[in-house]
Amino acid sequence: MSAPAPDAEVSPAAAGAARNERRTWAAALLVAVASGTQVAAGLAYGSVALVANGAHSGAHVAALAVAGAAYWLARRNRTNPRFAHGAGRIGDLAAFANAVLLALAALGLAVEGLSRLIAPESPDYPAALYAAVGGLVLNLACMALLKPTMEDLRDPSGDINLSAAHLHVTADAAVAAFTLAGLAAAWRLGWVWADPVMALVGAALIAHFAGSILRRAGAALLDMRQTPALEAEVALRLRAAGLAPVVVRAWRTGPGLSAVTVRLEAPPPEAPEAVLRALADLPGVSRVSLDLI
Ligand SMILES: [Zn+2]
Repeated sequence: MSAPAPDAEVSPAAAGAARNERRTWAAALLVAVASGTQVAAGLAYGSVALVANGAHSGAHVAALAVAGAAYWLARRNRTNPRFAHGAGRIGDLAAFANAVLLALAALGLAVEGLSRLIAPESPDYPAALYAAVGGLVLNLACMALLKPTMEDLRDPSGDINLSAAHLHVTADAAVAAFTLAGLAAAWRLGWVWADPVMALVGAALIAHFAGSILRRAGAALLDMRQTPALEAEVALRLRAAGLAPVVVRAWRTGPGLSAVTVRLEAPPPEAPEAVLRALADLPGVSRVSLDLI
């Protein structure tokens, strides 16, 4: 037995996804413009640091485009019957892929920091400082654009795709701030080790954020049970309706959406209708099924 999925056109999850999709594309556009400007300015003024920074921002455009494309794909496949539990987890897959790239970026930054700690070079300080300030401002703007809404925060698993993009730009803002401090210390105080040490601190922070996204997105993709409060509420309602649930499992099917499966002890003939009645107005439940074995 299966309850019909709520009409995604009017569900809060779909409204949230539309907002998050618009904001992800807006952030991608902003970063693309900034990245192009940096590369052009770097080429015009002969600054390798600016060109490198612009190229790095280009990788962000790709990551944000993957996040945006995931919203588009999930929307397009909303009613595609080939997805047994709906297409809501396409965003979780995009978040997982982006987190793998973020972990690789942390590794690259750590290698760069270590190699410059061993063989220090003195960068073109004004250009590098300018690039770091630009990166900080850009990432702060993206952080504001991609900030999860109250709805996302109330849902324990939330919109992982948006969270991943938000954590990424947050990590990059922190790295830009660390870089600024390191460069200023190296330039003004002669502490040449400060810039590479700050790169290592930034790499550790990025690795931490990547790990947290990998865990959340991985748990969602593997159908791990992650809503104990919802399972408890389902069991409570079923008992109140005179049913005896032996197994109640809830798992995520998309941002703000869960599937619930129930096994009853000695189910009465009217069990399907009774279960549906008991769970009819549970928010965020996109599917309810009765297990026979
Ligand atoms: Zn980045």
